[in-house]
Amino acid sequence: MALDAIETTCVYCGCGCGLYLHVEDNRIIAVTPSMKPPASGRLCAKGWLLHGFVNHPERLREPLIRRGDRHVPTSWSEALSFIARSFDEIKRDSGPDALAVLTSAKATNEENYLLMKLCRAALGSNNIDNVARLCHAPTLFALGSSLGSGSMTNPIESLLHSDVIMIIGSNTTEQHPAVALHVMEARRKGARIIVVDPRITQMAEIADLHLQLRPGTDIALLNAILNIVIQEGMIDEEFIRSRTEGFDDIRDHLAEYSPEVAERICGVPAELIHDAAVMYGGAEAAAIVYAMGITQHAYGTDNVQAIVNLALATGNLGRDGSGIYPLRGHQNVQGACDMGALPDYYTGYQRVSEFREKFEDAWKVELPASRGRTAIEIMSSAGSEIRGLYISGENPALSYPDSSRIRGALESLDLLVVSDIFPTETTRMADVILPVASFAEKYGTVTSTERRVQLIRKAIDPPGSALPEWVVAARLLEIFGVSSDYNSPADVMKEIAALTPSYGGISHERLERGGIHWPCPTQEHRGTPVLYRDGFPRGRAVFRHVDQRSLDDERFTLIIGRSQYHFHTGSMTRRVCILEREVPEAFVDMNPKDAAALGIRNGTGLILESESGTIRARARLSDNVREGVLFMPFHFRESPVNLLTKWQLDQFSKIPALKIVSVRVRREDA
Ligand code: SF4
Repeated sequence: MALDAIETTCVYCGCGCGLYLHVEDNRIIAVTPSMKPPASGRLCAKGWLLHGFVNHPERLREPLIRRGDRHVPTSWSEALSFIARSFDEIKRDSGPDALAVLTSAKATNEENYLLMKLCRAALGSNNIDNVARLCHAPTLFALGSSLGSGSMTNPIESLLHSDVIMIIGSNTTEQHPAVALHVMEARRKGARIIVVDPRITQMAEIADLHLQLRPGTDIALLNAILNIVIQEGMIDEEFIRSRTEGFDDIRDHLAEYSPEVAERICGVPAELIHDAAVMYGGAEAAAIVYAMGITQHAYGTDNVQAIVNLALATGNLGRDGSGIYPLRGHQNVQGACDMGALPDYYTGYQRVSEFREKFEDAWKVELPASRGRTAIEIMSSAGSEIRGLYISGENPALSYPDSSRIRGALESLDLLVVSDIFPTETTRMADVILPVASFAEKYGTVTSTERRVQLIRKAIDPPGSALPEWVVAARLLEIFGVSSDYNSPADVMKEIAALTPSYGGISHERLERGGIHWPCPTQEHRGTPVLYRDGFPRGRAVFRHVDQRSLDDERFTLIIGRSQYHFHTGSMTRRVCILEREVPEAFVDMNPKDAAALGIRNGTGLILESESGTIRARARLSDNVREGVLFMPFHFRESPVNLLTKWQLDQFSKIPALKIVSVRVRREDA
């Protein structure tokens, strides 16, 4: 008997690999890769095992409502009426700004759009945000304000045309394997690779140059590289003159960043910094790939701006093989932002302050003008100004900084609604838990890290009475009396396209033939894989000077990251037995010299302490981290590493400093 093979898109990282789900009797029994890019016949371990969690017995199957300290089953109509009634009461007592919504980067564009509409048109609040606040908000701010669009400038395949690729703050082979495969292919064709990373990653091992800098010193390094590029006469003067502004303002400041000064700050030999500058500056087409090693800092926006300055000065934008590649960690983090799940923008980055009337006309309601709160601002106001919160498919109790403070914030709400596919640390605190369909059980679109809008297709039915979240949001809109006449996600996309210039030519019908890179303004337009070929939307791109900040002076700097076998807070991957077998628990990578000094061996139980909290985990001795540096993944509830992180925000993008934290370490038995 032939199996059904349903073509869809991977739910994990932002690469957006296409794949087939093979189905028998409403169960997915195998996964195979699509031959279309970026998968091109390949998947990573998580992708091959994607079906492992979908049919898991712990899936949420029916709505649950809190009665005392228990959650008991209820009907959809009772759950939704209770939510609407409770939101209404809070709104009556405290005003609409007491309500907030956090959407999910695992939900579709249509779901993010409807939740955004729910927050603004039904609840009357601009307090809406999504997980991008914790990963790429600095990208949105720095690339958006300097270049015109806060997104990846070139498609992944464009890396095959690069002759130099600089990878900074990205463990690409483990976290964005489809991108890493393109980097390897470019290398086979002759491209040279520079890796800037405090750890010896797999990519660092095969790189032509590895700059193993001290954590948090990227600006000193990037400024020194640009300074050398200028001194060596490797800037693109015509590009700077005709397409940019502000270069003269930064040139003088950069002179302070000699390679020797950078060596003292970063711990990278001046000679190596010089070699990297000459390699990048001398390339015909050079790309910079980065991820959360750059963004998740209290100076994340400045870090991204330092990258922008380097690319602009060398004219490495608007051409195949050049470009800036911010790699998104979740399947649809790009789409969640595109859909206006942000406090200050509607869809397609149309500012609330400029486009309110347009959306009022379309939705036929009065919309709020007040400034919305970001994710961490929502949490910091929980229990006081914020009283009711809807969280779609996220687990802030584990993934947000200073977890004990986050848990206190969630507990102090009058109403917490959480939708998810599994019980999590956050659903445990909810007043209402809504069981929603997984990616394999619904239709819709997602937008990958390369701005490619793609279809996901339903392969099987959801368990129990679980519903696609677009249906849940549409029903809530209907209860609140806001237009919600949708028969399918394709109808929702029609509304998105009508209101969003960059998605104007996107429809489900067109996407049946393959993904499209936005901007795609009309049905006839073929999409825009490479941005800025003919200029920048804001006229001229902008250089801005950024300075290295001083760093904390504790004995150890802990870097917080990920394992290739797990995703985010592990709610999906830790339920896939092979992935869980590979990495079943948290670990702390420590340099053997540090370990010897403290009497620590492989497997020794450690206590890590910061200003915010204390956790336990086992040591794993590794030469991949330099002395004074530790590394730990954040997927494990048993060693919740975000108990250690602080609510320290980047002043521009409001991202919290999730990447590094100063800690003290001791043996558990000491
Ligand atoms: S690289 Fe990312 S999108 Fe591709 S299969 Fe792996 S997790 Fe999925």
